[in-house]
Amino acid sequence: MQNRGGDNPRLSPSEPALRIILRRLREIMAEPSDGQSRLDKIVRQIAGLMVAEVCSIYLKRQDGSLELFATEGLNPAAVHNTFMRRGEGLVGRCAELAVPINEPDAQNHPAFSYRPETSEEIYHSFLAVPILRGGDVLGVLTVQNKMPKEYSDEDVEVLQTTAMVLAEHLVSGAVAGANAAPEFNRAVGHVVRGQPLSEGIALGHVVLHQSRVVVTELDSKDPEAETLRLEAAVEELKASIDEILEQGDLSAAGEHRDVLEAYRMFAHDRGWLRRMKEAIKRGMTAEAAVERAQNDTRARMLRQTDSYWHERLRDLDELSDRLLRILAGRPRAHAATDKLPHDTVLIARTMGAADLLDYDRSRLRGLVLEDSGGQSHVAIVAKALGIAAVGNARGVMERVDQGNPIIVDAETGEVHIRPSGEVITAYGDKARFRARRHRRYRELRDRPAMTKDGQRIEIHINAGLLMDVPHLAESGADGIGLYRTELQFMVSATLPRLEQQTQMYRAVVAEAGHKPVVFRTLDVGGDKALPYLRQQEEENPALGWRAIRLGLDRPGLLRTQVRALLRATAGLELRLLLPMVTAVGEVDMARAVINRELELLQRRTAPGPTRVLLGVMIEVPSLLYELDALLPRVDFVSVGSNDLLQYFFAADRNNPRVAGRYDVLSAAPLRALAGIAEAAKRHDRPLSLCGEMAGRPIEAMALIGLGYRSISMAPASVGPVKSMILSLDAAELQRWLPEAIRTAEGSIRAQLKRYAEDHGVEI
Ligand code: PEP
Ligand code: MG
Repeated sequence: MQNRGGDNPRLSPSEPALRIILRRLREIMAEPSDGQSRLDKIVRQIAGLMVAEVCSIYLKRQDGSLELFATEGLNPAAVHNTFMRRGEGLVGRCAELAVPINEPDAQNHPAFSYRPETSEEIYHSFLAVPILRGGDVLGVLTVQNKMPKEYSDEDVEVLQTTAMVLAEHLVSGAVAGANAAPEFNRAVGHVVRGQPLSEGIALGHVVLHQSRVVVTELDSKDPEAETLRLEAAVEELKASIDEILEQGDLSAAGEHRDVLEAYRMFAHDRGWLRRMKEAIKRGMTAEAAVERAQNDTRARMLRQTDSYWHERLRDLDELSDRLLRILAGRPRAHAATDKLPHDTVLIARTMGAADLLDYDRSRLRGLVLEDSGGQSHVAIVAKALGIAAVGNARGVMERVDQGNPIIVDAETGEVHIRPSGEVITAYGDKARFRARRHRRYRELRDRPAMTKDGQRIEIHINAGLLMDVPHLAESGADGIGLYRTELQFMVSATLPRLEQQTQMYRAVVAEAGHKPVVFRTLDVGGDKALPYLRQQEEENPALGWRAIRLGLDRPGLLRTQVRALLRATAGLELRLLLPMVTAVGEVDMARAVINRELELLQRRTAPGPTRVLLGVMIEVPSLLYELDALLPRVDFVSVGSNDLLQYFFAADRNNPRVAGRYDVLSAAPLRALAGIAEAAKRHDRPLSLCGEMAGRPIEAMALIGLGYRSISMAPASVGPVKSMILSLDAAELQRWLPEAIRTAEGSIRAQLKRYAEDHGVEI
């Protein structure tokens, strides 16, 4: 890139060219003209000013492919006739990775995709930058030269800034051909399928969450004034996060707090502020600098495969959006509360947890997000607020308008946009039926789960976040059969220290009242990676260095957790559960850690629990053949059927192709589960089962038939399972089931269903 004059000493040599390009772009956009001619003029201008022989614009089509929309230098006949499949060639790669690609010898790059119709064989050097808006790649802007050379950082900067301006131009709808496919027709209804993030059904009206402020002013002549504006805005941002953290219902310890603390950490990140200030020094406005820093960080973070970084990226996106809104003088993301419909269904590409908390909760019915999954922070908060939420609903943004009627089915993950009268009626019925069923379950809440023949079955709930614990009282369950402690670690930005852990466990015990809580020690590692714990990538994470294996190899972590749990349960019983135990020796080692912590506590004469009950999860098949050695060593056992079955069937529980392939109600796994029940009885050890199967009435019925008298499940399953128990004669089932299993080959699900029908069992 050549310096074309300019004598402002504060600016880098590229500034004048950048200014010229920005001014020309603005002039081109102001001229009365159609979209295509504007694009043609833009590529001509950029090619001229960057002394490039070629400049081209590729835009993304609905199927993810890229279409050549304008070019200066390539064969004009190739425009609208050259398409790159998703990820194809260097252009496709630039769009996929959302990062600039700078290649001195593109022709010989392995990813190069030659297109004869473009006549581009003579160009060696190649620079492509993504056209990004709000984190979405709209297309790719390229320049090419015959001479092999690496483009300078200034060239990359100029092209990136140009792409930013272009992005605003493109989303204003000025270019024909974008979003023209029939599926975007507003006159008809659409169904978009996503992933349920919570429970429930919501019928309501669309409110588009407009977090983005469109940045139109990009270049500034007064870096000092822009720096001051930025600094003031960052201060206001920090104050607004503190304010949310101090809101009455969020000020207590809990995961909301951990999520928001992560924002606070980002807001105070000096690197972030430095990157923005540097962009201002290069001549950008404060707004453009926020956007640039966000795009750069996004590009870096997206290269990480770890889902933790993607979550952190959402945190950063939310903060950047907030900062832009503060700079624009409208700090909140939504209209005044009184303008929100009473049945608001929020639609957003992504949304931060703090943004969701900005809305008036009494008006929120549903939430649909284009690209947030079940582990996201906003999903955790949506669940806590009890709104029907669906994530990963691809394409929803392009199909809805403000105020459209919409139905969110967070049971199936379906989102019905502008539904027909019949669909509304059907969903109205479904919602009413659901409400009736829930009323009935609520009525059962205080009835003990007793079978018709008087056998008491303990029903516990599974929890993992403090916000899950109130479900204990709401569902009328007997206790928390599985508290997954790792979830707190997963929503935290940093490793929770002793004090923080103690507070959290204390809050859980207090919230549970007098009901028992089984705390499982950290089940991390493998696919549940904690970024602040360095871990090597593993080929088979489910079979890897995780749970108790990691706990015993890194005893500091286990010791701290045990210490926190001992302190938190002072004066009470502590029930500790060890995950992924494979060999009995591991129990002995874990017990030694616990005993050492108990001794330390006694030596310090600090208050501790009245008793420590140590349990083991049976979730690795090897234990099935060591039950007689295992059971005398422990105080109780709990079958982790999710893992036990994945190892039993060698079928990855997270892989939809194989996860549901083998039926748990088949002879082989039922025989294994029966063997555990018999051994527990023989050794007189309390037995429970806390995998997903416990929450499905027909499977819970089979467990009772096998002799299980305690099961732990998701809170929503308590009602249906209790209803089954109240209608069951356990002794009769126990007479029938062993023989059915003994003579069975494969699944006996159909037989169990028939049994339930014939005996009036509500499944
Ligand atoms: C299980 O494996 O069944 C279980 C309850 O533990 P998790 O689902 O947390 O692995
Ligand atoms: Mg498990």
